[in-house]
Amino acid sequence: MTDHTPTVLSIAGADPYGGAGIQADLKSIHALGGYALTCVTALTAQNSQGVRCVYPTSADCLAQQLHALLTDLKVDAVKIGMLANAELIEVVAEILSQYSLNNIVLDTPFISSSGHPLLEASAIQILKQRLFPKVTVITPNLPELNYLLNRNSDNAFQATDAEMAAIGQAFFKLGAKAIVVKGGHAHSTAQVTDTLLQPESEAVSFTSPRIHTQHTHGTGCSFSSAIACLLAKGQPLPQAVKNAKQQMHQWLTHSESLQLRYHQPQSTRREPLKHLST
Ligand code: PLP
Repeated sequence: MTDHTPTVLSIAGADPYGGAGIQADLKSIHALGGYALTCVTALTAQNSQGVRCVYPTSADCLAQQLHALLTDLKVDAVKIGMLANAELIEVVAEILSQYSLNNIVLDTPFISSSGHPLLEASAIQILKQRLFPKVTVITPNLPELNYLLNRNSDNAFQATDAEMAAIGQAFFKLGAKAIVVKGGHAHSTAQVTDTLLQPESEAVSFTSPRIHTQHTHGTGCSFSSAIACLLAKGQPLPQAVKNAKQQMHQWLTHSESLQLRYHQPQSTRREPLKHLST
């Protein structure tokens, strides 16, 4: 345990609806006893129905936000979320090296559940080249993993041990040091397994009962920032992943209950998670 409040820098998009991006990270980090610093990569317009539009921050604006914080404070961990375009990826890659940051969790949101792009397709290569080798852990879900590795597979695939090992090798070849494969999209109904892959260790699987909810808006953001916060508190990676998953299980069982102004079909409405403190 450290003698100061652990600081987590979230570099992510802003969600005015409060369920994803910077806003999810703030709630997740504060619920776990960290202090969240936030640098905004994009403004979005969105609500319970989905993302309407995205306005990326300029590269200069993002760089200024980062320098202002990093010249002032010691940062214990970093969570990287939506990056919007190649220019912003370059800014983040430079900053990670310049300030020798560690405990870096890279989430890889490319497209919102409502179908809106969160990263330009042409920037994927740059993301892999510039950020994969610099981060502590990458947290793709199954569709993101297929996209990153150009896998021609069903997005709800259930990997065998051999397939999982091959997925790990493909990421390690790209310079990744660790990956958490999030299994929430897999066909299995009763349980969800997330798998931590590291080059020198056996794969570690974390399984929990599946929670049947449509209120999953921002779960990737909340999970990655929870891992970052637990790393900032000094937990080793396997323990941080295990505890973040347990925390997510609890958060997913409680969504906010917001009153809508107009009738919206229940099926399209996705409420933010309730980030209860432990
Ligand atoms: N908005 C922002 C700023 C995000 O970072 C994300 C996901 O990372 C989303 C929206 C999409 O959230 P979801 O697809 O869970 O609704």
